[in-house]
Amino acid sequence: EDRIIAADEQDVDNWQYSLRPRRLAEYIGQDQVKNSLSIFVQAALTRQEALDHVLLYGPPGLGKTTMANIIANELGVNFRITSGPAIERPGDLAALLTNLGEKDVLFIDEIHRLSRSVEEILYSAMEDYALDIIIGKGPSARSIRLDLAPFTLVGATTKAGALAAPLRDRFGVICRLEYYSPEHLVCIVKRAAQILEIDIEERGAWEIAKRSRGTPRVANRLLKRVRDYAQIVGEGTITDEIADKALAMLEVDKIGLDRTDRELLLAVIKKFGGGPVGLETLAASISEETDTIEDVYEPYLLQLGFINRTPRGRVATAAAYQHLGIAVKEDSQV
Ligand code: ADP
Repeated sequence: EDRIIAADEQDVDNWQYSLRPRRLAEYIGQDQVKNSLSIFVQAALTRQEALDHVLLYGPPGLGKTTMANIIANELGVNFRITSGPAIERPGDLAALLTNLGEKDVLFIDEIHRLSRSVEEILYSAMEDYALDIIIGKGPSARSIRLDLAPFTLVGATTKAGALAAPLRDRFGVICRLEYYSPEHLVCIVKRAAQILEIDIEERGAWEIAKRSRGTPRVANRLLKRVRDYAQIVGEGTITDEIADKALAMLEVDKIGLDRTDRELLLAVIKKFGGGPVGLETLAASISEETDTIEDVYEPYLLQLGFINRTPRGRVATAAAYQHLGIAVKEDSQV
């Protein structure tokens, strides 16, 4: 299913690779993260050492993978990419680590999903550039230590809170990526349009930027869909009017909420009297995965102030009622 908003980079997103900035200077927005990383990278280069391990966290589609790749480019080293769920056994991680060259970058996406046994051997790898491996079984089993080349681990996660403290503590640099401002998203949309040779007016770019939930991946997806619409219905150029019509057709509303966002809010309000409602119950009521709600939908709705998380569950705020045009009930908790 080709969704506009999705937790993972999907096959349909392969075209987005061509849009990925390759250098720090091309990376739009996230100024604080860029500034500190730029200093750490320069320091590592000056000392001719491997860069400290870096943890990038924040909602999907904000540019964590892109940034990891840029770090390797700026350091002038190789970039290896894997993900938490892909590393099934300690041996898989050992194979990856022993194949790294001096100062290379290993990127582990969804690092909060590493298994316990894999995570444990990562500790000594990160701390001492060494692997402690048990060979043999039973009484004859013994542990050997394998030295590794100094390397940089870049981990990415949507939830820093889901990371075990011993793992989190081994990252020297921890950066949180924020939702992008419309100003930055306009730049991203215009840059992507230029690369993809899409004809777009300034106001068309703004229309897309404002409705991209602060997320570059969503902005790029919307740009592509709106382009299709412009070519079939319009004369090829993306104007604000064309963008507005195309986005309405895609059921992306004025502030970027899609059908699922609205279903979720409506469920809290209509089915559960405004809340509080537990995540599981809410997910079941709209036939969504709890992870998708937690990682993808909820962070933006929280950011907008449309829902609150309370110990007893999710609550819709007055702003949510207002956005959906529903009157707040007298006896509600809002
Ligand atoms: P994440 O790893 O956080 O899910 P990605 O790094 O895969 O996000 O970014 C998704 C897409 O958004 C990329 O393919 C890239 O084209 C675009 N993108 C992300 N951040 C930026 C940025 N700062 N400037 C321009 N494009 C960006």
